[in-house]
Amino acid sequence: MIRFDRVNKSFGDLNVLNGLSFDIAPAERVTLIGPSGSGKTTILRLLMTLEHITPVKHPEENGGVMWVEGEPFSHMDKGGKLVVANERHLRQARQKIGMVFQQFNLFPNMTVMRNVTEAQVHTLKRSKDEAAAKAKELLDLVGLSDKVDNYPSQLSGGQQQRVAIARALAMDPDILLLDEVTSALDPELVADVLGVLRDVASSTNITMLIVTHEMGFARDVSDRIMMFDKGVIVEEGAPEAMFGDPREERTQDFLRAVR
Ligand code: ADP
Repeated sequence: MIRFDRVNKSFGDLNVLNGLSFDIAPAERVTLIGPSGSGKTTILRLLMTLEHITPVKHPEENGGVMWVEGEPFSHMDKGGKLVVANERHLRQARQKIGMVFQQFNLFPNMTVMRNVTEAQVHTLKRSKDEAAAKAKELLDLVGLSDKVDNYPSQLSGGQQQRVAIARALAMDPDILLLDEVTSALDPELVADVLGVLRDVASSTNITMLIVTHEMGFARDVSDRIMMFDKGVIVEEGAPEAMFGDPREERTQDFLRAVR
């Protein structure tokens, strides 16, 4: 579903990802853990095409390609120039990927209902009735059927985040990217949001790539945990092994610090 093949990403002189490679299978749930600044969010932003990868220094090595559903997002030409897939292709690929951010990013001037129907109507060209039916079903799933006519400012942070989850799911994504979705929430609101995501994980086949500091949640929903540090994978494995008996000192230190 997702393949990173020796992907580099720099911001100026700062090399955030250094020849990073990994694969994620369809319907797999993978959680990225690791210290702040290790490049986790950058990976999600590359997948959302909010950032582009940095060309490899030695194009003859042929690396530096990111694939989604078997399609390359970009490749290097023979001269080592980065060629990004055409806009139509990227738009199609992006439609298959839903993202939920730390800051909920709802449209403040739209009701809950319109937040969830807007892109369905404009991007997927669904009829208003069809979009509303889908929105109702999803707002029910996230426990907000009674808030359809409210505006985001009238909701708690946890409720806003649940709307953001419903909005992402309304697009029928194949892949859901979750970027520290509970970090901006008051502690008492975290459990509701994680509960909704547990339901989504258990009731769908959506491939999920998760960045979180909630280790209990990561353990419950993930098939695989990848421990990052300085843009490389330090260690990866099933949650039982990673949380129960991590091999690498950096993983042990990180887990000790966040628990
Ligand atoms: P994480 O999600 O693991 O905390 P990030 O992917 O957000 O890490 O960031 C990795 C590094 O890249 C950090 O040092 C961060 O400051 C830097 N960085 C991220 N985005 C930008 C940007 N747009 N411009 C410059 N530096 C950035």
